[in-house]
Amino acid sequence: MIDICLAGTGGMMPLKNRWLTTCYSEVQGNGILIDCGEGTQIALAQADINTNRINTLLITHFHADHISGFPGLMLSLKNFQKTSPLYVFCPPGGKEIIKNLSCICDDLPFKIFIDELPPDRFFSFESPGQKDFVIISAPMRHTKKCLAYRLTLNRKPVFNPEKAKELNIPLQYWKVLHRGEDVEFDGKIFTTDMVTDGERNPLTYTYATDTRPNDNLIELAEKSDLFICEGMYGDDENVEDLRKKGHSNFIDAAMAAKKADVKELWLTHFSPAMPNPYVYKDSIRKIFQNTKIPKDGFKKTL
Ligand SMILES: [Zn+2]
Ligand SMILES: [Zn+2]
Repeated sequence: MIDICLAGTGGMMPLKNRWLTTCYSEVQGNGILIDCGEGTQIALAQADINTNRINTLLITHFHADHISGFPGLMLSLKNFQKTSPLYVFCPPGGKEIIKNLSCICDDLPFKIFIDELPPDRFFSFESPGQKDFVIISAPMRHTKKCLAYRLTLNRKPVFNPEKAKELNIPLQYWKVLHRGEDVEFDGKIFTTDMVTDGERNPLTYTYATDTRPNDNLIELAEKSDLFICEGMYGDDENVEDLRKKGHSNFIDAAMAAKKADVKELWLTHFSPAMPNPYVYKDSIRKIFQNTKIPKDGFKKTL
């Protein structure tokens, strides 16, 4: 399962009751954070997230509202005595920017590894330390190079102990077989399919912010269990200006959710000029029924 928390939901700048958009997810104790604008460590604390578990940071792009919380987050991790490495994935240019931001964080007790991802094509990689958790990045359309991310947990088939008992396989080999490895025992070879019951669907969520509507977004989000997508404004007012600045509104996000045939949509990255995004709930659900307009700290387990 994947625990997901949208710890902040704002765009551009933090407000007194709304932190900048940041999404934390956790699989088997490994934490992945997407974006860290100003005050992210406070948003995480308020959402009761165990910040010390973050081992991967995905950055969508290098506008301040998505990265300026990096030094503060690093100092929080230091304070929590993190010693394991932090893996950062980001668009090109990130090594220089992150190095510069890190120079005000003295004596971090953990290493930071930075990978710059291709800005112009879909790219797939394994989540560090979690082989069955696969991340795909895809280029979006913003005023800076910007990536959206699709995260997929591939689940093992269900182990059936009755089948293992029938085949007289000793207990010590059960975990090995469930991991997908063959076992040779008593002159015979046993395979995973002999002790499991069929395939389980993978769990997937997609995160996209700061982009005009585009086809890559639909392709990336296709059939996601959860789609977290930018909606700067609730309606089509000022849509021309919004497009020029490379953003989407609620209607764009709901249309994308419908086209991508996702199960659930969460809107985020609300403009500071929109104090009450919740008034659009009914109108937006006419486009895509299973839409949520989350407050900071909104959680779900897939
Ligand atoms: Zn932004
Ligand atoms: Zn931006």
